[in-house]
Amino acid sequence: MTYYIISDIHGNLEALTVCLENIEKGPEGKIICLGDIVGYCANPNECVEVIRSKAATVILGNHDESAISDQSLDYFNQYAREAIMWTRDQLTDANMEYLKSLKYTHTENDMIFVHATPYRPEEWNYIFYLGDAELNFRIFQERLCFLGHSHQPVILEKTDSGSIVINRNYNVTLKKESRYIVNVGSVGQPRDQDPRLSFACYNSDTDELEIKRLDYDISVAQEKMRQANLHPFLIQRLALGK
Ligand code: ZN
Repeated sequence: MTYYIISDIHGNLEALTVCLENIEKGPEGKIICLGDIVGYCANPNECVEVIRSKAATVILGNHDESAISDQSLDYFNQYAREAIMWTRDQLTDANMEYLKSLKYTHTENDMIFVHATPYRPEEWNYIFYLGDAELNFRIFQERLCFLGHSHQPVILEKTDSGSIVINRNYNVTLKKESRYIVNVGSVGQPRDQDPRLSFACYNSDTDELEIKRLDYDISVAQEKMRQANLHPFLIQRLALGK
């Protein structure tokens, strides 16, 4: 089975469209979305509707959660807060209801899928340090964990001797005896200095894993954000990939 794992779309319909067109050209498979469909860019409703029709499984992200609740936005920086308030105004009732139905994790075929971390997924923590990775490898039982949230793709391998290897070669064959945490990066707002959209393609029969990067028309997404009066910082960062 081929799994296409996409995350952090953030209302960027231009990036999502290119991503899905590429997936449709590849082997038939299952699309799993790790959340943050909305927030930051100008097409939250369209992205929710496309994801809903194309993805087999969808996980809740922190921006989705804050867009559907009236919880405090203190956790977010000024730019994210403004974008979430704008998104709350835009979302249709039907799309709000859909986002409310999403769960924090999904497990299937010796894999766990989560937006942020297997350890307390509802706290929206990050895996930035080896200690974070070690903690999380202890928490989940499955062989593979796919996640997003940081918008920075990386493959973390726990070898059978227990050490953790950080792998930034994005086209690998996984080892039978190792376990992995795979950050698939972000479709709609990459932050690893590479503005191309990012997602993962995993073949569970051959154990081949690729994190793909694709160009899309950033200027169209930016123009829509300008029209919507979204913050210039959010508009500029799309082109910078950070
Ligand atoms: Zn995100």
